[in-house]
Amino acid sequence: MIRKLLSAWLLPVGLVSASAMCVQVAWGGDTPQAKRSDPAPVQAENRRPAGDVNVKRLRESDSEPGQWLANGRDFGGSHYSPLKQINTQNVSKLGFAWQFKTSTYRGMEATPLVIDGVLYVSGIWGAVYAMDATSGRPLWTFDPHSDPSYARWAGEDVVNHGVAVWQGKVYVIATDCRLFALDAGTGSVIWKVNTLAKNTAGYECPGAPQVAGPVVVVGNAGGENGKGGVRGYVSAYDLTSGRLAWRFYTVPAIGEKDATPEMRRAAATWDPNRDPAFGGGGTVWDEMAYDPDLDLVYFGTGNAGPYNAPRDWSGGTSTDRLYAASIVALHAKTGQMAWHYQATPGDVWDYDATAGLILTNLSIGGTSRHVLMQANKNGYFYILDRENGRPISAAPYVYMNWSKGMDASFRPIVDRAQAEYDTSPKFVIPSMWGGHNWPPMAYSAATGLVYIPTIETGMFYADVRKNPGSHLQWVDGATGIMWLFADKSFSYEYWEPLVGPLPRLPPAKEPRVRGVLKAWDPIQKKVVWEQQTSQDYLMLDGGVLATAGGLVIAGREDGLLVIYDASTGKILKKLDTGTAIMAAPMTYEVDGKQYISVLAGHGGSVYAFLGTAGMQYVNEGRVLTFALGGAAEVPKSPPQVIKPFRQPPKQGGSPSEILKGKYLYNTYCTRCHSLGVPGITPDLSRLEDGIASLDVFQSIVRKGALLSRGMPRFDDVISESDARALHSYFVDEAWTAYRAEVAAKPNK
Ligand code: CA
Repeated sequence: MIRKLLSAWLLPVGLVSASAMCVQVAWGGDTPQAKRSDPAPVQAENRRPAGDVNVKRLRESDSEPGQWLANGRDFGGSHYSPLKQINTQNVSKLGFAWQFKTSTYRGMEATPLVIDGVLYVSGIWGAVYAMDATSGRPLWTFDPHSDPSYARWAGEDVVNHGVAVWQGKVYVIATDCRLFALDAGTGSVIWKVNTLAKNTAGYECPGAPQVAGPVVVVGNAGGENGKGGVRGYVSAYDLTSGRLAWRFYTVPAIGEKDATPEMRRAAATWDPNRDPAFGGGGTVWDEMAYDPDLDLVYFGTGNAGPYNAPRDWSGGTSTDRLYAASIVALHAKTGQMAWHYQATPGDVWDYDATAGLILTNLSIGGTSRHVLMQANKNGYFYILDRENGRPISAAPYVYMNWSKGMDASFRPIVDRAQAEYDTSPKFVIPSMWGGHNWPPMAYSAATGLVYIPTIETGMFYADVRKNPGSHLQWVDGATGIMWLFADKSFSYEYWEPLVGPLPRLPPAKEPRVRGVLKAWDPIQKKVVWEQQTSQDYLMLDGGVLATAGGLVIAGREDGLLVIYDASTGKILKKLDTGTAIMAAPMTYEVDGKQYISVLAGHGGSVYAFLGTAGMQYVNEGRVLTFALGGAAEVPKSPPQVIKPFRQPPKQGGSPSEILKGKYLYNTYCTRCHSLGVPGITPDLSRLEDGIASLDVFQSIVRKGALLSRGMPRFDDVISESDARALHSYFVDEAWTAYRAEVAAKPNK
């Protein structure tokens, strides 16, 4: 996804040559360790059964501030805690309390839950770890043994967004889309179900299950996979039996018989002559929400698949492609649609509407309103009436150029000159990563502010189907589209030969890619304070926790856990953890002591370590926990050992084969692999490390020799001669890196 960033051509000289690079992280150790210790009782003051969460408890969660019962703590998903033992006055004494290592080395995105002294959290592939919340002592570990071939469809890495705990069970979905109900006390499987309606290639499942009344609701991802994406849907299963209760498709199928009224309405907004192989997208891959009073379950849907289908630029509705890029409410009992609001009609920029939803009551114009809030990828902060879906306000929380505002019906007015890339490449803001992506935002009941981890950047969009010289054949759902980030490593010289002339950007005062934590007043629709969290390289800084102690807490990709004054944004404390933090911190109390905990580990769509803590330390998945009076130093993972390049194998390919390999790399490999810089998967310019020979390379790429480590086979799309071309290109890259290293050495 970050094609330029991952290119060795852009590698700052010295990054490779000065230090030795490491592949020890990448080649192994990326499956969860399935060790199960005897479940031991936790020293909690009460005798509740394990995982004892129910409607009453979650409704009254403010009366038990020491618990963190659901992903966002409460029914509203606020990511706000009423705890205040740790506060603005004493936070300087916050230090390291304990850690739990997952022995995995990929992206970590889940918020831990703490229920009656037990911490539950999910990791890669849908593994679950349960531990004593006061010490990190493991209680049990669950490994779903997810089918590793699904790694191919995991566009955001084999990450997992969290568990749901309910009435003694822990619900989690594996990357291969099997939903598990586990015994909260032991981790043993009570029931499991395959949530795939059809075993169509392209689906994968990263989302956290949502309990809604008598059912648990799950979605899936894959709106950009295969040819035209998968068809998105959510499924609801009976909490006790695992029986399918209902299923709701988010986008219509071609020629569907017995279509529901809402699907017939949606079908009128799609091209009836579209390729029947296109799945349609609209996948539901992030946090959902549930209102027990209205009995409505809420979710956002992803982009249409493919999202660069023809669009009516005059503003007509025939290409809106409902219900993609929408916020949807369903009746939890029946799965029937209550309402929808499409945030980005006719989206052609990958503006998924999937970011977290926060339910609360706001006083607007003197009236208390039951609202739903979202900082959408498209750059608008939405407040909807969650009873009927009617928009109350929509205001830009980041800089944008694709839209000039809203019409009276809250349909965004598109700035065609800036955003239409059918005819020529455009630089569109925000980027397809969105003004805000999945890292959770928080809403503080104390300050009334929403704290949003935003991304201030745009990107080039180029439709390369009309570029006959490019040879580019993107396999993503956005067939024939090219995204280029204008980060520090961007190079016109690399990309223009591939995609044609790109618009020249005027000189910028600030870096073109910035992570910025913003305190947003949802009623006044303005930023109250902001703090930059990263720059130059595209990354996802961490999700946010707000507390009644006047604190806002968020991690960063450089490994810092930063604590801000919730009112002013002043930085009160920084803890250097040595591990990139993308997930949201949470807080809880056991035996009168407040803890702050976060799941750390780099991954997701950003596979290279550039700019992250992974450049310095091994990218180990860790639950890191802090308390007042804890150690000043956080224990670090072992240093990232970056080995020097050894002499690569002889180049056997011709220049035209090398060029072909470059196109194939951009088509198939950049989704997961870095080139010339360390990343969470092997750096492909390091062919000397065990895969030097063409035969071994062929067996890995085409026959699945490393399937057990999550490297899928590609023989359906990569021929033997294609693999040879790829090999030639990587050998070429290895020689470039090796020669640069030799040249940089003194006396040589
Ligand atoms: Ca998307």
